[in-house]
Amino acid sequence: MASIKLAHITKNFGSVTAIKDINLDVVDGDFLVLLGPSGCGKSTLLRMLAGLETISDGAIYLGDRRIDGLPPSERDMAFVFQSYALYPHKSVGENIGFPLLMRYFRWWFHIPILGSIAKRRVERSPEVAQSVTRTAKILGLTEMLNRLPRTLSGGQRQRVALGRAMVRQPEVFLMDEPLSNLDAKLRTTMRAEISKLHRNLKGTFVYVTHDQVEAMTMGTKIALLRDGQLQQFGTPREIYEDPANTYVAGFIGVPAMNLIRSRYSDDGFRIGPAAISLPERLMAAARKANGPTLLGVRPNALRIGRSDVPDTLQGTVVLVEQVGAESNVSVELAADAMSVEQDQSSNTIIITTPGYSELEPGTLISVSMDLEQAVLFSEKTGERIR
Ligand code: ATP
Repeated sequence: MASIKLAHITKNFGSVTAIKDINLDVVDGDFLVLLGPSGCGKSTLLRMLAGLETISDGAIYLGDRRIDGLPPSERDMAFVFQSYALYPHKSVGENIGFPLLMRYFRWWFHIPILGSIAKRRVERSPEVAQSVTRTAKILGLTEMLNRLPRTLSGGQRQRVALGRAMVRQPEVFLMDEPLSNLDAKLRTTMRAEISKLHRNLKGTFVYVTHDQVEAMTMGTKIALLRDGQLQQFGTPREIYEDPANTYVAGFIGVPAMNLIRSRYSDDGFRIGPAAISLPERLMAAARKANGPTLLGVRPNALRIGRSDVPDTLQGTVVLVEQVGAESNVSVELAADAMSVEQDQSSNTIIITTPGYSELEPGTLISVSMDLEQAVLFSEKTGERIR
């Protein structure tokens, strides 16, 4: 069973705590994405799983087996690095076959003469040749088996690195930003290839990235980290639709979810001077909070509309960005629509509208909201209250 359990994992580098008390349960066959900004601790967590980094506290289990005391070679996990880490003087075929060489003759390699005998025997072994051929076929590398890595494109090199991980048929694949050196088009192609690989191999994948699109398109589960702490663990849909706090809400989605200052008081739910009627589930939470809240509304749930419609906000267009088939319109809400202590930046919301927008900066507009999918956060703690 390639289920993985991280129990109270902590990692200190001197006085820096890179990972703080993380608990995660990864089911056999999951594609877990460790997601977060630079420095949040995702690579450290992956390296601890691989055994390339010790843990300061906690335990790691692979199935029922506790593995955190084992060396990397005994964990049955294959690691794919961002830099590909291919052997430059070995051909594609030799690179792919190398882990098998190491598996069968790891100890022999310490003694030069035995090392070269081992190498020859493995290279001539029909099982190794078969594994390399099969792996190369899956990855479309058959025609390139005799070429050196430097003669390949970035995407082809990355496929060789994947092949080297696959050939051992490990239970778990660990990947640290494997696509970050590729151009945007190739990244899209490779994303699809890695997802296909996951479906075909049925192994457990743990994949590090700071790219939310990679996380949302490839992951069956996402663990979103910030400053070494787990912010939320769930399916891409859960993370998108039910963000646990304002950090998650702001990290997932392009443009990010709007967080609109609001408050419940005796005269109802208000955004600045506007009284807004909320769906009952949100109204009940707002009533209970009875104080400053942040109403979370995705840009595509806002509409530019007429001012005579109830529940609208008033604002001024400050920027219009065309993004292919849609436009992102930034709107500064009327100054008195916000509480006095609020900073300038959160006065602006973004609306995504289909097609080409003819709006000019400076135009006064009304904004209506579809609040069916809206969420509510406490302004004080940032935690989701509904
Ligand atoms: P990136 O996306 O930039 O690679 P990351 O999320 O993978 O970032 P880590 O590389 O895991 O982040 O680093 C987490 C924190 O631990 C950072 O503050 C980093 O400076 C620190 N750190 C990582 N490795 C070491 C080390 N060997 N010694 C000291 N501090 C370290």
